Order: sequence, then structure tokens, then C-alpha cells
Amino acid sequence: MKILGSAAGGAFPQWNCACTNCSAVRAGTFRGKPRTQTQVAIAEDERSWFLLGASPDLRAQIEATPELHPREGVRQSPIQGAVLANADLDHVLGLLLLRELQPLHVHATASVRRILRDDNSMFGMLQRISNQVVWTDFGSEEELSLLNLQGTDSGLRCQARSLSEHYPTYVSADRRAQLTPGEASLGFLIQSPSGSRLAYMPAVPHIDDALLQQLDSCDVLLFDGTFWSDDELIRVQGSGQTALQMGHVPVESTLIKLAGLRRPRKIFLHINNTNPMLDEASPQYRQVRSAGWQVAEDGWQFDL
Ligand SMILES: [Zn+2]
Repeated sequence: MKILGSAAGGAFPQWNCACTNCSAVRAGTFRGKPRTQTQVAIAEDERSWFLLGASPDLRAQIEATPELHPREGVRQSPIQGAVLANADLDHVLGLLLLRELQPLHVHATASVRRILRDDNSMFGMLQRISNQVVWTDFGSEEELSLLNLQGTDSGLRCQARSLSEHYPTYVSADRRAQLTPGEASLGFLIQSPSGSRLAYMPAVPHIDDALLQQLDSCDVLLFDGTFWSDDELIRVQGSGQTALQMGHVPVESTLIKLAGLRRPRKIFLHINNTNPMLDEASPQYRQVRSAGWQVAEDGWQFDL
């Protein structure tokens, strides 16, 4: 498993942001790293990779990852497919970069597929020839086997878990009324053939006991690290929504609620550029590290 990108939408620094963090990165005085938008890739064997989402930074992320480069012939990719957790632009725009008539297997809920394919004609560029992108629907509480391009089982199992009923704001009210609420935003529990488990939960609006139980069965946890505090954006911008209103439990609450998790290696990802824990000289960074958590960086790799 590789973390190709670890920032929230807009990346770090963000093009139109002059917050303390973004300004310090540009000035070269920041204690910490810039980051691209959240992207994770998983593989059972080194030749077949699956993307969790498809970030707007995907082209650069693939180039920065030798495992994802073409290996045979003139047109080839070890990327077999992508699994979509939601229809947010930061999570799906990269699909449009994966055209060039390259075969690909996209797993998504029927609701997310309808939003992208039926309402956004640009995604038709992925369907120009018959053996280009193959879409497979799955249910919000379903366990699916990730299939290679040849249709063979990769050995990776992906269990979806509904986390939110909130669709992106670009989805029309008419379309929204036709969609299944539980298919809006998912987390994934991914199991390798050896039995080890990865939790991928970049947008968690609420933590309950059932979720805690699932997380405690995992070996590696990639969890929503978007905002440190609930009013973070409002304090930086002077207006806006709270973290909870945007569907993200703030890190300072997560540290308390997940303090009892003993088994998994705990990693925050999907970190917004305003989050003070990005600054390794900050008390928030020290608090996260002393609570046994890590703050994801682009390029990190783990064996599952
Ligand atoms: Zn910023």
C-alpha cells in the first residue's frame, strides 16, 4: 500500500491560500512538508495496482511512483482499476486523466456512477471504445473482490461502509432525489489474502461504537485528519462552515474518541492546509505524535 497524496482538497499549499501554513511553505520557513491531494494505491502483487479514488494530482503522483509506471509495450499500465468512495471532485477528477483509451476497471456505487456518467458528459471520454473503462456497481455495505483487468481475482477484498448521506453540492436536487442516501460517502476496510486489514476513512462525520469495533480489527488505519478543530476554517477565513458541518470529525475529538484503539497503526491523512498539526514545530503535532498517531506524508509505503 502506498500513500501517493495526503492533503485534503486544494492540497498544501493551496493556490489561493495565504494562511500561516501555506505562507510559511512558500517562504521556505515551514517545519514540515508540502503535500498533494489524498490518493492511496494498493496492490497484492507488485504488478497489479488499484487506486482508492482518483485525485486531481494523479498524473504527477503516478510519475512520482515507479511502481505505477508502464512496463511492457508502448501503451500499458500496472493500474488495474479504481475504487470510488464518493463523487467529490477531489476524489474523482483524476479519472479524467486516465483516459488515452487505456483499459480500466472502476468500482463505484450505482449512485456515484450515475452522477459521474449520466450527468457529466466529460466522463464519456472514458467510454469511447468498448474495452476501455468497465464500471462495476457495488452496494454500500457490500464486500467486493477487486478484479484485475483480465477479470481474475486480485485477492484483495474491499468491504464498504456507509459514512455519510451527503452528496457533493454540484449534484442537482432532481438527481439527488433519485439516489440512495447510504451510497453518498463510504469508508473501506480492505483485506489482503494474508488476512491483514487496512481501513481507509478520509471523511468521517461521526464516530460510533460500531465504527470503533471495525477499526480495532484493522492493522493500519488511514483516518480523517482534515481539520484540527471544529471552527478552524471560520477562524482562518473569518466565515464559513464548521468541520462537523463539512462532514469531518476534528482531530482533537478523534484523539479522544479513538484513544482506546490498541491494534492498528494510526495515521491521519486528508489533511487540510490550515491544520496546525502539519507544522512539526507546533504543540498540535507533538500532541498527535505523543498520542501514538502519525501524520501521513506523500510517498509513504506499508506492507499489508
Ligand atoms: Zn492555507
